[in-house]
Amino acid sequence: MNLLPRRYHRIKQVLDKRQPDLTVLTEDVHKPHNLSAIIRTCDAVGILDVHTINKTDEFPTFSQVSQGSDKWIFLHTHPDIRTAINYLKHKNFKIYAAHFTDQSLDYREIDYTQPTAILLGAEKWGVSEEAANLVDGNIIIPMLGMVQSLNVSVAAAVILFEAQRQRLAKKMYDTSRLDATIYHKILFEWSYPTLAREYQKKEVNYPSLGENGEIIS
Ligand code: SAM
Repeated sequence: MNLLPRRYHRIKQVLDKRQPDLTVLTEDVHKPHNLSAIIRTCDAVGILDVHTINKTDEFPTFSQVSQGSDKWIFLHTHPDIRTAINYLKHKNFKIYAAHFTDQSLDYREIDYTQPTAILLGAEKWGVSEEAANLVDGNIIIPMLGMVQSLNVSVAAAVILFEAQRQRLAKKMYDTSRLDATIYHKILFEWSYPTLAREYQKKEVNYPSLGENGEIIS
């Protein structure tokens, strides 16, 4: 029943680096391989939550590209872009749309050590006008070649690794940034997913975990 100590410590190591105040919001990014690649990058950067709205699909699906990283990210779907943006604003996030406008800032000018959400637009149409008007600012990755834009998952990676660079410099990955109650809840769910569901069904609190992840009843 108990999981291997090595696995438990690996899970803890990853959770210790998760950044609850850095997130991504996707607007109608509907191709599973793009969403999967974005999720995989989020995992690598230490993002815990990803937000999405999708007018076409009921629920976004993942492809092989995610390499299972979708298990380690919480995906929140919102009914529409206004609701999603309001939700993030309410949580004190500054929201920057990766979006081409005359006023867009170079993505390296943003301070990503503050609570930040990056809005990414649809493969074909980009960020909607409605969303662009609701966010705190627009950013671009300068394009110096013949094509006008990057693939959305590539744009996500470029911006998110700049955020990671800034946060590493500020030592924001050195100690856990999660609230203790949330930390222990996620740690149990990631360590014992099947058991966690049973506890949830019974509406019983999760048990404590020992030094090596053993269940202490
Ligand atoms: N024709 C669309 C447009 O004008 O926005 C292109 C969409 S692009 C393939 C998909 C998304 O990737 C964009 O909405 C944006 O969020 C992001 N993106 C791609 N290249 C970018 C760049 N150079 N700077 C900022 N965001 C970019």
